[in-house]
Amino acid sequence: MARIAVTDGIDENAAESLRKLGHDVVIGHHEPASLSSGSLADFDIVVIRSATKMGEGAISANSGEGGSLRMIIRAGVGVDNIDIDAATSNGVTVCNTPGASTNAVVELTIGHLLSSVRNIVRSDRMLRGGVWAKKQMRGSELRGKNLGLIGYGRIARGVADIARGLGMRIHAYDPYISAESHDGDYVLHHDVDSLFKECTHISVHCFLSDETKHMVDLRRVSMMPKIGADGIECGNHIVNCARGGIIHESDIRKALESGELTSAALDVFESEPATGNELLDQDSFSSTPHIGASTKEAQARIGSEIISIVGDFESGNIPPSKLN
Ligand code: NAD
Repeated sequence: MARIAVTDGIDENAAESLRKLGHDVVIGHHEPASLSSGSLADFDIVVIRSATKMGEGAISANSGEGGSLRMIIRAGVGVDNIDIDAATSNGVTVCNTPGASTNAVVELTIGHLLSSVRNIVRSDRMLRGGVWAKKQMRGSELRGKNLGLIGYGRIARGVADIARGLGMRIHAYDPYISAESHDGDYVLHHDVDSLFKECTHISVHCFLSDETKHMVDLRRVSMMPKIGADGIECGNHIVNCARGGIIHESDIRKALESGELTSAALDVFESEPATGNELLDQDSFSSTPHIGASTKEAQARIGSEIISIVGDFESGNIPPSKLN
């Protein structure tokens, strides 16, 4: 049976199920300094979310000659907090739970889009401040507008399905989709500037990489048309529920101040927790604290995937979500 450290929390039922299967599950946070001095060295598996950073030092201190760690499970999708090359060279398998949180992020994205164009968060803030802002809060509709998706993977496709139902026209930029695999129910752009020129609403759904860092900047936002595909002056709207850093936050602030952007809504930030972020004093900005995957259903699905990965680890099978 495996010794499993859980450093950033896990669904309670999943922890209980792993214990019932005979595994030793220890839940508790590990500071970076203790990770680098081998606090996971007696464990076989560590389950992390985004808060625990498994860099080269943390991996080598707990695996190979440093300890018995043989697997890192990322409860979620993004693995930018894991040095996968260092894991591979230390014989540590890295897995994630890629599909488990898709629907949760899809629904949050649609929520941000609707809230932005109908001023739901702004109206509530005004009323709490004693203002019945009925006249100022006139919004626009999503129906008839072009929605531009940066990245067209699992989450973006889910967003597209719902947005189509709301009457939006889908555009996407994803350099890894070939013209042959393009199924034709959306407009595929081969350069990102062209997506910005066509869409009044843009939602980000790619990973953070050297290619995508600060991809959404003032120059590109200034290309957005402000007038919807249906001829309505709806302004320009940006949503990011993918990763902080893809959006250039200072540029977004400038675009909100100048009116180039009518709204921006972020679930993810370049630096988290984002208390004190420079966007927070902008009236047309709204946010959630990186809760894309935080639904009961998603956490239960993540828990089930972790149990299945641990089962594969025990029986010597290759987990389907193995990344190295
Ligand atoms: P996915 O792998 O299914 O889709 C990502 C897509 O991005 C792929 O189709 C890929 O080809 C595309 N892509 C790669 N490089 C690109 C580039 N330079 N420009 C444009 N597109 C590019 O991933 P997914 O499950 O849909 O996740 C999407 C994002 O959502 C990830 O950043 C993930 O970390 C994030 N996410 C956030 C939360 C949250 O809590 N807010 C939860 C889950 C996932």
